[in-house]
Order: sequence, then C-alpha cells, then structure tokens
Amino acid sequence: MSESAAATAPDRIELRGLRVHGNHGVFEFEKREGQDFVIDVTLHTSVARAAATDDLTETIHYGELAEDVAGIVENTTFDLIETLAETIADHCLNLCDHVEVVVHKPSAPIRRTFNDVSVSVERRRAAANGTDRSAGRSEAHLNLGANLGDARDTLDQAVEALERHPEISVEKRSSLYRTAPWGGVDQNDFLNLGLIVNTTLNAAELLAVAQGIEVACGRTRELRWGPRTLDIDLIRFGAGDDELVSDTDRLTLPHPRAHERAFVLAPWAELDAGVTVLTPQGRRPIGELLDDLDDQEVTRIT
Ligand code: ATP
Ligand code: CA
Ligand code: CA
Repeated sequence: MSESAAATAPDRIELRGLRVHGNHGVFEFEKREGQDFVIDVTLHTSVARAAATDDLTETIHYGELAEDVAGIVENTTFDLIETLAETIADHCLNLCDHVEVVVHKPSAPIRRTFNDVSVSVERRRAAANGTDRSAGRSEAHLNLGANLGDARDTLDQAVEALERHPEISVEKRSSLYRTAPWGGVDQNDFLNLGLIVNTTLNAAELLAVAQGIEVACGRTRELRWGPRTLDIDLIRFGAGDDELVSDTDRLTLPHPRAHERAFVLAPWAELDAGVTVLTPQGRRPIGELLDDLDDQEVTRIT
C-alpha cells in the first residue's frame, strides 16, 4: 500500500462474516474435528486513488484478502483465537497500516447457551503510530525451503514479503542450495536458503509473520516433512548471551532439529562461518556439525 495510507486514513475496506472451518482450540477434539470460525476484517486505508482511477491494482483485492485470511484459518492450528487474530492482523499489515480483526468462535465448547464468543484485535504498523521499539531489536536466523511449484520464485517472494514488513529488515541472504529431502518422504529435492534478519518483533510475532507468508505463498497442510510450497523455520532468535531458549510446541528455540540438518547448517555457515550452535550436547562450532553430516546431499547452486 502507498505511504499515503497513514494511520488516519479515512476510508475502510471491510470483510464481514467470513466463515472458515479450522482446527483451533485447547482441547484435543477441537484440533481433531475442527469447527467453524467467523472472521471480520477492517482495513483502514485510503481508497481515494482507486476511486479516482477505477483501477483494481490501486486498491486491496478483497477476493484475495478473503483467500489469504481463509488460508491462515485453515492451515494453522492454534490453542487460542487470540493467536489466530494476531496472525491474521499481522498478515493484513502487509496490505495497510491499520487493521481490526475479530475472530468469532460460535461453536466454542461452553456449557451454557450463548450466541457468540469473539476476540478483537486492532493493530497498527509501528512506524505509523510513532512507536519506537528500536531498543528491543533482535537478530534472528531463518531457514526457508520449497519443493513444489516454482520453488525459486516462491523463495524470492517470501524474502520480499519479509523485507516489506515494517518491523523486519533482511540483513543477509545466503545462496540457494539444492538439498535432498529429509525425514524419509519420497519427494523432489528442496531449494533452501538462510536469512539473517533484524527485527523489533518478538520471536512469537516473527513466527506468526512467517506463517502468514507461508499461507500467502499458497502453502497447504501436507504430510509431516512432505512436499510443500514454502516452509519458513525460525532457527535461532537473539545472538550470544541474548539467544532465546524456548520449549513449547508452538515455538521451540533454537530449532530442535537444526543441528542435524545440513540444509539448515550449510546456508547458515555461509552467512556466519564462526557461529556456534546450541545442541543437546552443548554449543558446537557450525563447521564441526556440518562435517558430521557429510552424507547429506547439499549443493550450493547460486
Ligand atoms: P520441522 O519443524 O521438523 O522442520 P516442519 O517445518 O515440517 O517440521 P511445520 O508443519 O512447518 O513443521 O510446523 C509445525 C509447528 O512447529 C508449527 O505450528 C510451529 O508453531 C511449530 N514450531 C515450533 N518451533 C518452531 C520453530 N523454531 N520454527 C518454526 N516452527 C516452529
Ligand atoms: Ca521445517
Ligand atoms: Ca516449519
């Protein structure tokens, strides 16, 4: 969206009552069977240019917006609708500077008769409301992989989407690597690359943005470790003494399988040859870890 779409933009694009089946909830049966969620999205943005030119490319395509939001609901699994609302809002901040998202859960497991339960979030781009979060800047390492469709193009689009996010800057991008699939599923080779980013987001927010980009790039739920249009894993968040260690299913840091994957370590070593990686056996130099994995096929291609 143009810079003129300031926080005070007088116009709104609203999407109301988007009903999507999803698998969110604290209970096992909610994750297994799923239920309908109903989403309202309000994008505060100026439609003046589009109105003046009658040109679809000057505005937000609400058909695509509906698909993106539905994709996020369908292809993620969160315990809380708060997290779902946040992820949708984060995605919408790629389109405008100020967004409101309401997630309704009309079939929530509540023993009383009720009409609706919902969570509403309102988010603005940090730059738009003057928030200075620079004190909380962190470095993070991401690994991106793709092996369906035009993998190279998808990876380019994903890096561009990360760059566009107002609270993420891409500091370094590795070459592309052609890598053999990992985890035993028979499938095409992957293309992988590593990124060092700087961000004022926290780790959970950064992962939510990454998951929104996976969905926007057409990722669907597939076999575990099977083919996918795009996978973005958060490998490490924070550096040195500030490295974040987290041990929840939703966010495990450092990434628990990074040290045994040449497709993660090879691009990372290109970006930071001196890095030591936290493993269950303690910190180990990345070069040593890679030497132990010389049976895994990884070819630098650009
Ligand atoms: P793997 O994690 O072994 O590479 P995968 O990438 O195929 O497998 P996904 O289906 O993409 O797995 O992710 C499953 C869940 O992992 C996500 O819902 C996400 O919340 C969680 N997760 C936990 N820690 C991380 C992390 N460091 N980076 C990315 N996702 C993570
Ligand atoms: Ca992965
Ligand atoms: Ca992943």
